[in-house]
Amino acid sequence: GSDGVPGRVRVAVRLRPRNAEESVADADFADCVELQPELKRLKLRKNNWDSETYEFDEVLTEFASQKRVYEIVAKPVVESVLDGYNGTVMAYGQTGTGKTFTLGRLGEEDTSARGIMVRSMEEILANVSPETDSVSVSYLQLYMETIQDLLDPANDNISIVEDPKTGDVSLPGATHVEIRDEQDFMELLRTGEAHRIAANTKLNTESSRSHAILMVHVKRSVLGAEDVIPSETNKSSHFAKPPKPLVRKSKLVLVDLAGSERVHKSGSEGHMLEEAKSINLSLSALGKCINALAENSAHVPVRDSKLTRLLRDSFGGTARTSLIVTIGPSPRHRGETTSTILFGQRAM
Ligand code: ADP
Ligand code: MG
Repeated sequence: GSDGVPGRVRVAVRLRPRNAEESVADADFADCVELQPELKRLKLRKNNWDSETYEFDEVLTEFASQKRVYEIVAKPVVESVLDGYNGTVMAYGQTGTGKTFTLGRLGEEDTSARGIMVRSMEEILANVSPETDSVSVSYLQLYMETIQDLLDPANDNISIVEDPKTGDVSLPGATHVEIRDEQDFMELLRTGEAHRIAANTKLNTESSRSHAILMVHVKRSVLGAEDVIPSETNKSSHFAKPPKPLVRKSKLVLVDLAGSERVHKSGSEGHMLEEAKSINLSLSALGKCINALAENSAHVPVRDSKLTRLLRDSFGGTARTSLIVTIGPSPRHRGETTSTILFGQRAM
């Protein structure tokens, strides 16, 4: 990845602190990674004497604040969405490593805890004009190659519509809620989360087994190049045309991906196995697309999964994409941590 260049993916790694259980159970063991944030490096310990070093666009330690994570990972993407380009921020990692913490925390009592979703919306609302611009949101869950509307539980099989000429992707069947202020948005996130819990109970699954996708549509009125302010002489002429505003549309997609952990075939069967296969399909399709972008390949295989079809106009091209890979410190999860780090590396 390279700094803020459209069409390439910027990759950050974030380590969460040890939790209470790990602090006790792993007290005698070192963390499986060691970070060197100023060098943007991460050392992965293989054993007591051997380690492998990886470089990322950004390395965020367990002490990185939510504000800093937002500023590094999401802010450049949000700014480019405000300028009229599409953008995506995705969180990838094993369940329990902080994807939802990073993206979805509401921080209702403590605003410093707010995650990327709320901070991005704050930034967008602060920069659009309520008279001429509009911001609307859809909130979806992608489970077993089916898209469900988290704002309307009855709407449980939404189709993706692709414009053959422009390549633009839309979900005309999804609920779009107009957002005027932060309260509207917090309310929407709470509703979406409640519906997600209910839907997953009904489907007998965990929320870590599906992707949560928040789409923010921004429409801004801009003056076209030909609509220069009329000069004094033009103004007095009754032929002067009123300025005609152009509408510029862009969208920000925030994706809390399904847990990347390998589900062992031996231990799972039937429904669990189908679920695992489906997650594997979409995450590996995503990985292939991100690789293709990193390698500047002309062919990005977006058609392989619903996830990548949904994202096709929001990464690559003029779109700006950030990937945050989240890891835990426990030496017990070295295998999963290694595969998360490698996923991030392949994106660069
Ligand atoms: P995931 O969504 O990847 O499954 P969560 O975001 O739910 O993981 O995080 C798992 C647990 O770890 C939660 O209790 C969360 O509060 C905590 N956690 C995650 N990241 C951090 C962090 N950077 N600092 C403090 N606690 C964290
Ligand atoms: Mg989660």
